[in-house]
Amino acid sequence: MRIMTIHKSKGLEFPVVIVPDLQRKFISRSQLAVFVRGLGMGLKLPDRQGTLRESARFRRIARADAALERAELKRVLYVALTRAERRIILSAVARTTQTAKDLRNASGWLDWARHLFGLTGSPREWPAETCLGETCLHVCLDEEPAGAPAAAVRPGTNLPEEPATALPPLLQRNLAPVPARETRPLLLSPSALGEFAECPRRYFYAHVYRLPVPPEMAAADQTREAGEASAPAAIAPRDLGTAFHRFMEILPGCQDWSVALQQALRDSLPPHLWQEAAELMRQWAGRYAGSSLHAESLAADSDLREWSFQYRLLAAAAPLPAVWLSGQADRVLFYPDGTLGIVDYKTDQLTLASLQQKTAHYRLQLAGYALAAQAVFGLPVRDARLYFVRLGQAATIDVAVAELTTAENELRGIAGFLRNHTEEADYACRLSHCPLCPFQTVCLGE
Ligand code: SF4
Repeated sequence: MRIMTIHKSKGLEFPVVIVPDLQRKFISRSQLAVFVRGLGMGLKLPDRQGTLRESARFRRIARADAALERAELKRVLYVALTRAERRIILSAVARTTQTAKDLRNASGWLDWARHLFGLTGSPREWPAETCLGETCLHVCLDEEPAGAPAAAVRPGTNLPEEPATALPPLLQRNLAPVPARETRPLLLSPSALGEFAECPRRYFYAHVYRLPVPPEMAAADQTREAGEASAPAAIAPRDLGTAFHRFMEILPGCQDWSVALQQALRDSLPPHLWQEAAELMRQWAGRYAGSSLHAESLAADSDLREWSFQYRLLAAAAPLPAVWLSGQADRVLFYPDGTLGIVDYKTDQLTLASLQQKTAHYRLQLAGYALAAQAVFGLPVRDARLYFVRLGQAATIDVAVAELTTAENELRGIAGFLRNHTEEADYACRLSHCPLCPFQTVCLGE
């Protein structure tokens, strides 16, 4: 007789295998933080009384962590149940009053084993023999010791002599290990692809490892790009972006753009930020209200704001998942001639000198929007524009058929790389972007 862990038994076979202790509960961990590769880290955060509470992010990642943990336990049970050449003996101690739990809420392997053989109710109600194809489960309950309401499932005395052949299909299917590689679709955002184009390693940290970027570093990133040594503003760039988007929503219904701006600030920012935001945004709002882009958008038949889309870049090819481009275009204009216009508003800090470089940076993102809009609405895209709010400048990208085809091939090339590579070393470093990178402290840059 050899006693070993299930992990040690991998690849081995024995005439008879005993798997004991099936009633042992799965370990439920109480933790302050949870990390799942690909999803990032979730933390419990203190409330006003200092009590740690699960954040929404923590709950989401903890659920995924639990699912992965269960999948691993399933794989281990599968190993245990497939080591026997002739006979397998499952042993457990269970309360005779205990009924099988719902499969999803199983507290241990015993619950799974019960479900595999369709055993419901308490162990006292189980039939002495349950067969699935050629595989038979013989249940033998021990006498309940006085004072201990427990029953044991142990090998019966009338076990069949014929060798147990392969597990029947139903058992095979239910016990089949979950593939280690996740097969759910891979969703790529156009902005993440832009990051990949700048530095693949940076993409890895941000979107594979999902390392958090402190907001002050993200803001500092933008300030440095403009070459400004400005004092940190109280308003985050993201908040300014939200307020500007609200301004554009209101603007078409207002005679006076300054009234639209006041309303947008009230709708999207807390009162203590109104004055500072108004000072910053007055010039942006006035320039936009007088721009040709605004005039053209008023002349469109209709438009969609913050249009969300998913566009399939690569179909699934087992075992690799499908890859979708998933994003939100700020605006889609429907022109009277049956064509489309794409507009994306950017609040980046930049100068006229860096306008071209910035436009190139966003080219793939905007091309992704154009490809998705063409596919969804079945209309050709006439123009795709970036509007740099702080600069009051619009920039266009080429959306001719040949250009969009090239962009689509580039996007597919990146998507193919991303779904095949999950290791840090696979992602090249582009050192030219390091001064603006929030991951300098973790990146070795090799
Ligand atoms: S520090 Fe440089 S090489 Fe490293 S991820 Fe950032 S940009 Fe890329």
